[in-house]
Amino acid sequence: AHVKNPPPAIDGNALVSMCLSRAGIDRMFGVVGIPVTSLANRAQALGVRFIAFHNEQSAGYAASAYGYLTARPGVLLTVSGPGCVHGLAGLSNAAANAWPMILISGSSDQSLTGRGDFQELDQIAAVKPFSKFSAKATDITEIPKSVFSVVDWAVAGRPGGTYLDLPTDVLHQTIDESEAERLIAEALKSRDKALIEKPRIDNSKIKKAVELLRSAQRPLIVFGKGAAYAKSENELTKLVESTGIPILPTPMGKGLISDKHELAATAARSLAIGKCDVALVVGARLNWLLHFGEPPKWSKDVKFIIVDVCEEEIELRKPFLGILGDATEVVGMIHKEIKDDPFCLGKTHPWVEAVRNKGKDNVAKMEVQLSKVVVPFNFLTPMKIIRDAILGVGSPAPVVVSEGANTMDVGRSVLVQTEPRTRLDAGTWGTMGVGLGYCIAAAVASPDRLVVAVEGDSGFGFSAMEVELSDAYDGNTNTDYYFGSNNLNLQCFSSAKSVYAFIWPFQTLVRYQLPVVVIVFNNGGVYGGDRRNPDEITGPYKDDPAPTSFVPGAAYHVLIEAFGGKGYLAGTPDELKSALAESFSARKPAVINVTIDPYAGAESGRLQHKN
Ligand code: ADP
Repeated sequence: AHVKNPPPAIDGNALVSMCLSRAGIDRMFGVVGIPVTSLANRAQALGVRFIAFHNEQSAGYAASAYGYLTARPGVLLTVSGPGCVHGLAGLSNAAANAWPMILISGSSDQSLTGRGDFQELDQIAAVKPFSKFSAKATDITEIPKSVFSVVDWAVAGRPGGTYLDLPTDVLHQTIDESEAERLIAEALKSRDKALIEKPRIDNSKIKKAVELLRSAQRPLIVFGKGAAYAKSENELTKLVESTGIPILPTPMGKGLISDKHELAATAARSLAIGKCDVALVVGARLNWLLHFGEPPKWSKDVKFIIVDVCEEEIELRKPFLGILGDATEVVGMIHKEIKDDPFCLGKTHPWVEAVRNKGKDNVAKMEVQLSKVVVPFNFLTPMKIIRDAILGVGSPAPVVVSEGANTMDVGRSVLVQTEPRTRLDAGTWGTMGVGLGYCIAAAVASPDRLVVAVEGDSGFGFSAMEVELSDAYDGNTNTDYYFGSNNLNLQCFSSAKSVYAFIWPFQTLVRYQLPVVVIVFNNGGVYGGDRRNPDEITGPYKDDPAPTSFVPGAAYHVLIEAFGGKGYLAGTPDELKSALAESFSARKPAVINVTIDPYAGAESGRLQHKN
């Protein structure tokens, strides 16, 4: 007689993967190991692209940026205990930047809690300061509801980080397929609609905003990465072009409307914020980046109109007018309201003229500095060459990733953003070490774009630099050795662990063949070379290098070649130009090691007052 095989049992790992896939998650970043390896494998089999890192911190930064770029939660998968702790870096970065992200972590066996199980930790408590919502599936039947709720919470209201805890025993529990389908259907049905709904916009506030803008003498429109996240570029462009109001993007708001737009006040920032009388602030917080909206940078009489999805944000800043709602919808409504009785400042309006003239003056002054060819390189000479090379790529414009003190500072004023969401930098939290994770996220989120990272050697070194400390690298570039990605390799080659752990980003770049060109501004240290006065250095460790110093002339370009990528060393304009031309057209992983005069940078870049 014919005996039918019983339907395959679904374990917790498989059920989580099924639910993620049903929730529309199609990318995951992480590091596998006990107890989540099979979760990653199952997810991959269901069509989720799993980008396997070596270090959860960078994978978490990637997940956070992926959430920002796609407006869908970026997922970080980690192992229990230490894996979860490493993942907190990414989760906290998502929280600080208001980007949607989910940390999914395996955890130890529930029946052994408190007895010192393998990698045991109260992970729900550990993630608390950095997550807006967390769920623990204490039984396999709770998985579907838990997965859908962390997904919905990540994007609800102000986006942020959420956490899903999956105990080992739950991942190993099984149910049959029909039961799994029943639970998924039930959880989908009971999804909290209120979470996904956008707040209703108060029309009387739209009218009030229009009155304020209409009667302002010196209006300004400020937009930030919340507006970029909301994809407000079309609505903002319409509003700006119909009213002629000058615009000021925050660093990551850059490109929402091109930096080259004639109303761009970026080069006249001090005048614009110091003199405006009404500022419409869209998806940007009046935090340190915007000088808290207070004197002396802003006029004490400025009337703020704040547009934000987060009610607490509006309450905190106490603006003249707060409009709760999605940036794109609110800006669209303001534009519509104005259209009935249009007004436009026009090119000859004294305010528009003042901002334009000041901007032109400052740009001309900067161009004089940029046109001086300084070798050994200062920061400006290579930055101008890089700016022109990036502009030369055209559309779709490259995503620019930028970090470091001087490098990010100079880059922000020199590099030009022409398209939305093409700038990723240290962000609200000033997080350094994000660069390579962001590169990988950008390449995964926008496969049609080249990714160009302009990194200080210190920012870059968070993920790559410590290799200089290690003599464990034995020159063996056997690909099995370095390209293996399972735990066994890590154990077998623990003597080379520091090498293995620290040069992973290239390996990840090369392994997935992502079109990422990393440019390292190599000035031999944090802020620059050792500038201490030798007379002031005393004590038993006086011969140690300065806390700010790295090995001078480090050969970062050689690191990537160990993995089959392309490395360039550039100390002159011609060398840099040819490295950029070649690597931009190859669209393959590359590192350009740019030698900068170690005395060229300023301490803390230009953020001196914060140090
Ligand atoms: P920036 O660093 O560019 O100044 P911030 O991260 O400080 O930007 O501020 C972004 C703001 O945008 C946050 O207060 C966040 O609540 C808000 N925000 C996020 N999504 C939206 C949206 N869809 N519409 C309006 N505001 C949003």
